[in-house]
Amino acid sequence: MEQIIMAGKPVAEKIRRELQEKFAGKDLTLATFLIGDNPAAQVYKRSLLRTAASLGIHTRDVVLPKETSQEEAEKVLRELSDDPQISGILPLVPFPPHIRRLDLVQQMDPEKDMDCIHPINGGKFYLGITPWAPCTPRACMAILDYYGIPLVGQNVVMVGYGEVVGRPLTLMLMGRYATVTVCRSRTKNLPAITRQADVILSAVGKPNLITEDMIREGAVVVDVGINSVDGKLVGDVSEAAKIAKASAYTPVPGGVGVVSNLMVMETLTCRL
Ligand code: NAP
Repeated sequence: MEQIIMAGKPVAEKIRRELQEKFAGKDLTLATFLIGDNPAAQVYKRSLLRTAASLGIHTRDVVLPKETSQEEAEKVLRELSDDPQISGILPLVPFPPHIRRLDLVQQMDPEKDMDCIHPINGGKFYLGITPWAPCTPRACMAILDYYGIPLVGQNVVMVGYGEVVGRPLTLMLMGRYATVTVCRSRTKNLPAITRQADVILSAVGKPNLITEDMIREGAVVVDVGINSVDGKLVGDVSEAAKIAKASAYTPVPGGVGVVSNLMVMETLTCRL
């Protein structure tokens, strides 16, 4: 059977075409909000700003030093949200460890929260009453759908249960009637679990966490991880392992990240 490389580009281009029409002649501004200098967040931010510009969306790039106090961070985010010029805000995670995430994100108007991290939006998402799920999980689902990967009744292993990817993605996969096993940092014998999977999704942030011996022959692999190793971007799953074992896989770079970007822009349509 021919191996499918689930590149993000064609998926992104399809969404781009739909958005170009919706955004034509509109005056929107997307703000990114970053505290510190996390390399993966910087990579994501740069591509977001490029994607926004390519769709005629204005951008504002707010960066605060990593030692910024809670109070100062809250003040800057509140002012950004209160600014009528700003249509949507994408706060980039991770925040530095001293930042109380929930207190910070609640400074945003929920309508300007582009990644479903305000508790009001999170609540609506978990209750299933908003289409605006977090962007990266939506990107994973869009890729799986675009490449026709079945989920109903499949054994799906979600590695990682972080707030912006793993946790919401788990719920979305269950919403498709997949049988989902979630693995976290304290999971015992991860390889034995991933080897059972028809579909493995990994959103951990550890390069080469998943190796060839952990993937069943013919499994589907969605690699959300973005890690910088010696200046190169790599995923959580070794590329050699994907090539050797998967029937379909997302590459890193060029996979999920490309589509996540467009999902942020798609969320902006709720501001039209
Ligand atoms: P996060 O909030 O730090 O979550 C990481 C998760 O991985 C946690 O649930 C953690 O377990 C789990 N974990 C850590 N070590 C593990 C291990 N050895 N085995 C199994 N699970 C382990 O991270 P995140 O924000 O979700 O991001 C995850 C990755 O996705 C990062 O590389 C990030 O850069 C990338 N990302 C990519 C995109 C994109 O568009 N492609 C967008 C966002 C994020 P515990 O719950 O037990 O702590």
